[in-house]
Amino acid sequence: MNYSKILKEVKAEVDLLELEGHIANYIPELAKVDPDRFGLHLQCIDGTHFDFGDSQMKFSIQSISKVLSMALAMKLEGVAMWERVDVEPSGNPFNSLIQLEHEHGIPRNPLINAGAIVIADILVSRLANPKVDFLTFVRKLAGSEEIDFDLKVAESEAKTGFTNRALANFLKANFNLKNEVEEVLDFYFHQCSIAMTCRELAETFMVFANHGCLLHNGERMLSASQTKRINAIMQTCGFYDEAGEFSFRVGLPGKSGVGGGIAAIHPQQYSVVVWSPPLNEKGNSAKGMAALELLTTKTGLSIF
Ligand code: GLU
Repeated sequence: MNYSKILKEVKAEVDLLELEGHIANYIPELAKVDPDRFGLHLQCIDGTHFDFGDSQMKFSIQSISKVLSMALAMKLEGVAMWERVDVEPSGNPFNSLIQLEHEHGIPRNPLINAGAIVIADILVSRLANPKVDFLTFVRKLAGSEEIDFDLKVAESEAKTGFTNRALANFLKANFNLKNEVEEVLDFYFHQCSIAMTCRELAETFMVFANHGCLLHNGERMLSASQTKRINAIMQTCGFYDEAGEFSFRVGLPGKSGVGGGIAAIHPQQYSVVVWSPPLNEKGNSAKGMAALELLTTKTGLSIF
């Protein structure tokens, strides 16, 4: 497969598209990002790398971190966690309060905000130093010590995260939050603030393409079954209320974030991360989705 040639074509074709998109501004610090940034990094299972654009620039991974916190919770808590959070697509916006009320405080899945807040609660209970230990886990997946929280982003979200506070309080009222609301949200805002380059994030997601083992040293981080479940949840729940559209157009398990990033994998083939800040009306990177659609169309490598 001539990935270099295909990526050049993808870049050229995406540059010509005039897509509607808006930067997330409900977290003030995210609104400062240059909307014209655009990077892509593809890492293949044989260790080769291909990229273009701003693929070495750090961006806020936001909700993409929910896949990583879910993975760590699965390791630490095991199947008991599924009593507190479901695995169904939401078909609703990522921060829906109505759905949580209808479902009596059991979030639809771990990749919407309410579900990720329950996962954050599990990690706060399980980890001796939650923020430090979570960062250590992410650094291990990435094979890099260069990964960190962006404290300005975390602080910015803490000041304006009223909807997340409402979700956390509702979970608490329904006995689905064991720790204090502010402690759990402090962890959650920090996990979402992690900054990574496309390359670092592609390396991190390689574990999900490699049946749970790190590519760089073969160490097993997740069982094959846990990895299968994580990929299934990404496939059905990874794109807010646009998971069906992403499956339809791209055909890969993945997760987006309001920072404009999308991470996706093809089991036993590759991991790919694209970053372009303007979001479509469903909250997913408009150009990012287009680039991945072109990639799987041109390579013929989607999971379907
Ligand atoms: N920290 C963001 C929030 O909770 C994450 C949202 C996202 O990327 O979808 O609003």
